[in-house]
Amino acid sequence: MDELVEYTVAYRNVKHPRLEYKTGTLLLILPKGSKNEKQTLEKYQKWIHKKELTIKKALEQAKTKKLVSRTDKELRSLIHTLAQNYQTQLNTKINKIYFKKMKTKWASHSKNGNLTVNTLLKYLPPDLIEYIIYHETTHSVERKHNEKFWSIINKKFPDYQTKEKDLLTYWFTIQKNLVNLTSSKIRSNV
Ligand SMILES: [Zn+2]
Repeated sequence: MDELVEYTVAYRNVKHPRLEYKTGTLLLILPKGSKNEKQTLEKYQKWIHKKELTIKKALEQAKTKKLVSRTDKELRSLIHTLAQNYQTQLNTKINKIYFKKMKTKWASHSKNGNLTVNTLLKYLPPDLIEYIIYHETTHSVERKHNEKFWSIINKKFPDYQTKEKDLLTYWFTIQKNLVNLTSSKIRSNV
């Protein structure tokens, strides 16, 4: 295991170890009572290094991205229009749309058909907002990130992998700018 990889360990009620990169650094989730911290890190070494590289690239790219200026009202109206269109296109139904400032994701789709949108989306270029809303609307057709899910995505966004990368980059651009805006020193996630 590379000594330089920074990570946090959490013990949760899970059956198998899980690795997450939601904030930019590795979170290793282990079943309660597990003593397999080192083994798990070794087992996933390759995957971890690939992720670390992706994040490093996104961080470098982050400096080159410009944020869009949009009011909360403009964001809401745009999201509602997009969600309406995508529900028609995918022949599905979204129950309610909530707006919330979230720390680890752009949006989420709940089991009861509600969509929660991160208000930070207001800083994103239109094509990425479109991708996020289409992605979440697709979850009301298929909950899991499986083959069926990605084939629906691929029909409208054949470049979805680039979109995912751009979203990671913008995530860091926004985090950086938020720090600058408040000009206070907060703990960096990267
Ligand atoms: Zn998803």
